[in-house]
Amino acid sequence: MEIFEYMESEGHEQLLVWSDPTVGLKAFVAIHDSTLGPACGGVRIWPHKSENDAQLDVLRLSKAMTYKSAMAGLNLGGGKALIWADSRKDKTPSLLRSFGRFVDSIGGRYVTTEDVGMTPRDLEYVAEETEHVAGLPLSVGGSGDTSVMTGLGLYLGMKSCANEIWGNDDLSDRVIAIQGFGNVATNTAKYLLRDGARLVVADIHDDVLVRAREIGAKIVKPDEIFDVECDIFSPCALGGVLNSETIPRLKCSIVAGGANNQLLHTDNAMELHDMGILYAPDFVVNAGGIINVACEVGTEYSESRAIELTERIYDTTSRVIKASRQEGTTTVESAIRLAEAIISKSSGCH
Ligand code: NAD
Repeated sequence: MEIFEYMESEGHEQLLVWSDPTVGLKAFVAIHDSTLGPACGGVRIWPHKSENDAQLDVLRLSKAMTYKSAMAGLNLGGGKALIWADSRKDKTPSLLRSFGRFVDSIGGRYVTTEDVGMTPRDLEYVAEETEHVAGLPLSVGGSGDTSVMTGLGLYLGMKSCANEIWGNDDLSDRVIAIQGFGNVATNTAKYLLRDGARLVVADIHDDVLVRAREIGAKIVKPDEIFDVECDIFSPCALGGVLNSETIPRLKCSIVAGGANNQLLHTDNAMELHDMGILYAPDFVVNAGGIINVACEVGTEYSESRAIELTERIYDTTSRVIKASRQEGTTTVESAIRLAEAIISKSSGCH
């Protein structure tokens, strides 16, 4: 990857690198856009195959955070961190503390929180070295597990899509196929089951599937999830899963999931559009977590405020869908246009 060319074309401000061989830490922080406020986004721990893949992932994720915070009406910019490691094997308190020193060295331009491979408890180690952390456990005055609010927001985003497609947002007896049954999916599933929806789940870890079976979900193999006949397909694992190979296999009316960067390329939104599938842009419907975190940054955390802001995802999703219909574009293009308008209005560049 030609890093400067890539950053310039995608509008990135900064990419920082940290190496601490004493604890086995290789980490990146990407700041995409800080117009609306300090760049905020989770730290992901993931064993990418190459350094290039890791850099590209953190850059793409940071850009999605810019759009996500803008669409959620938050005074936060877009940022993300990536620890290039396997969380199940390599995560240690000293590695997390070293990452905390990295974040601290950025002086508040980046505020870190939880993402894949991290827990609120892990953030406590990071917080021993820096104050630029959000999403700490409730017991220490933080906003707690971000996936709780992400789950609520995703559920409301699904209902908003249902309302646009079927004329009502009742999800009872709807079949929801979920890829990845981790924190976000589990929290979304609570609401879906309460409404009487039927779940089909795939995950790569057996311990996770035990939980899914216990709540009555039907289990399919990881690769089979794309072929499940369902009403809503919900990618809740990792990014890039919607691409030219997987999209033609889908048998659903709606795609709405919690994973970041579900589309391999923005163009893949057009393939979904052409198949008559309504795609809920990930950065619109999975904003509950960053909303929860924003309710802790520089202020005392208020859960009721976080719920109130997360509930707006229903209307924001509907606004995006209506805009895309009016403009004859994909929901992704419309959502990006709306987000960029919010940012340029704030910077005075309009
Ligand atoms: P998690 O690690 O708890 O869950 C992810 C699950 O996906 C795991 O159970 C994992 O085994 C499974 N998985 C991975 N690859 C898979 C595959 N190929 N097929 C099936 N299952 C697979 O993470 P999470 O916190 O639930 O986050 C899920 C996604 O949502 C991530 O993309 C994350 O960036 C995004 N997200 C999370 C939050 C949050 O608040 N946690 C907020 C916004 C977006």
